[in-house]
Amino acid sequence: MQVYLISACLLGVRCKYNGGHNYHPGIKKLNVPFCPLCPEQLGGLPTPRTAAELKGGDGFALLAGEARVLCKDGHDLSDSFKKGAEQTLYIAKLLGIKKAILKEGSPSCGLKTIKDGSFQGISRAGPGVTAALLLKEGFEVYSEKDLEYIVKNRF
Ligand code: SF4
Repeated sequence: MQVYLISACLLGVRCKYNGGHNYHPGIKKLNVPFCPLCPEQLGGLPTPRTAAELKGGDGFALLAGEARVLCKDGHDLSDSFKKGAEQTLYIAKLLGIKKAILKEGSPSCGLKTIKDGSFQGISRAGPGVTAALLLKEGFEVYSEKDLEYIVKNRF
């Protein structure tokens, strides 16, 4: 059975920027081996930490050097987010993991949506930094919104 990389906050780990979590009850139904991790903590950021958003593009754009991850006050956290994504990939490779379930909407873990960089709660299409790196590396990446689909299709 294949192991899934799962955003730790979806499992109830209090690694979210505000010290909270994003526990999702659907995770219990998965019944698969998994490795929980938080890319932003792996990037060396503290918890709690200042909220940050991608500015100038999505995670792919950041990896290409065309976007940045900024706090509301303009503090640049791009290097930490990139490091977190790289460390996540490193762990996944160590464990032979090729599938991930990540938290939608996060500047690191978001798969289909991220915030638009305005800090107004507005979403835009595109993956976060870690999701982008895993997709680039050929991983199967899902979000918590796909849990029912994964359980139903048993993969
Ligand atoms: S969404 Fe990802 S980076 Fe954010 S708290 Fe959850 S695991 Fe950490």
